Amino acid sequence: MVKSLLKLINISIFIAYFKPLWYNFPGDVTMKITKQKGTRDIILEDAKIWQYVENEVRKICREYNIGEIRTPIFEATELFARGVGDETDIVNKEMYTFLDKGGRSVTLRPELTAGVVRAYIENGLSTQMSPLKLWYIGNMYRYEKMQKGRYREFTQFGMELFGSNSYLADIETICVSYELFRRLGLADKIELTINSIGCSECRAKYITALKEYVKPRLENMCDNCKRRYEKNPMRIIDCKEEKCKKELENVPMITDYLCEECKSDFENVCNTLNEIGIPYVVDKKIVRGLDYYNKTVYEYTAKDLGLAAGGGGRYDKLVEVLGGNATPAVGFGLGLDRIILLLKEYHLCDNISENIDVYFAIIDKKAYSNGINLVNDLRRKGYIADIDICRRSFKSQLKYADKLGAKYVCIIGEDELSHNKCIMRNMKDGSQVECSLDTDEIVKCIGK
Ligand code: AMP
Repeated sequence: MVKSLLKLINISIFIAYFKPLWYNFPGDVTMKITKQKGTRDIILEDAKIWQYVENEVRKICREYNIGEIRTPIFEATELFARGVGDETDIVNKEMYTFLDKGGRSVTLRPELTAGVVRAYIENGLSTQMSPLKLWYIGNMYRYEKMQKGRYREFTQFGMELFGSNSYLADIETICVSYELFRRLGLADKIELTINSIGCSECRAKYITALKEYVKPRLENMCDNCKRRYEKNPMRIIDCKEEKCKKELENVPMITDYLCEECKSDFENVCNTLNEIGIPYVVDKKIVRGLDYYNKTVYEYTAKDLGLAAGGGGRYDKLVEVLGGNATPAVGFGLGLDRIILLLKEYHLCDNISENIDVYFAIIDKKAYSNGINLVNDLRRKGYIADIDICRRSFKSQLKYADKLGAKYVCIIGEDELSHNKCIMRNMKDGSQVECSLDTDEIVKCIGK
């Protein structure tokens, strides 16, 4: 007896002593883990707004005969260093880059054009069709400072058009992007600004003139401009620092250095936009943040909120830079997070929610199988239908149906079941009618 008591005490001491070592099962330690800075959960009503916008995108792309492309979220880091430009803010400061377990440097895509071009070359798409129009909706990742509408994970709708050097291809991409704003009711809330940054010949002449102008002023300008002076002088033009803007008041503009071909292309773009009624403003200061653009460049800005909603332009050299055959190309990327922000701001998505057509409230538990058959039948016919799955009281079921915004509640109790009937309750006015337990009869009652 004493022996076994001592044994027990020993075991207790052992447990008490070693508890921290072997008692801390993962389930014992509770810890609240929150989302990463710059990311969001998109839930229920918000997700409906996303679906609404994505559906409009899909509709437009179908109507414009654009094929979809989906590319990986991570790519070789080198793709962005070469494709986007290693002097851009994106590549310099904002990429999520890491070594994978095989020691390769990979990057979460900060934009999608480079990935699409890689896929275009790798899959030999140029031999399949020319011109080729591709669209995508995809998440991008940039390690940016947080502001309203600026996230570290965000989504773009984009289009890339390969194989046409005509201004008509530029116009096609502007038509598609503008159409999304028009369909969402945002056309008068955004401004389309366009410019031409010329081809490499015009740019070489322009950069000489630009550097000549900036050189004596450089010491009064910000560090970014000083760095860009050597590496990427065109980006000096759109510096947002007040002291730099002041120094750049009389800076030469690229449009005065365009060669005949670039000038005529740009005039054609402007004239066609006038003729087809797409409003725009020429802004000689647009150079775009990514290195690969040439000739036409454009941006969409939400005028009142000062928020960039998208941008695009021509990039005739990128396919070649990434190892493909020389192929003219043009494309755009629109920020869907910002477009949704605008829809909310201007109350343009208040009534997009679809209420459910019918909710099945079951009072007699024997009626569940009939209910499940009917609700599934209605769903197959395209109705939005739901049924109690908690075996709750009738009162709670009605309350829940009301919360769902159900137009009708189909009530099946013992009495109804024995007569092969149900009661259809109109939730708007509270009126009730008797109906057979039959999908077609219920459909007639719903009257849709
Ligand atoms: P970019 O690829 O930089 O030309 O950006 C195209 C569009 O994507 C911008 O006009 C924005 O609407 C959107 N965008 C870019 N960066 C972000 C971000 N960090 N958060 C949300 N939207 C963004």
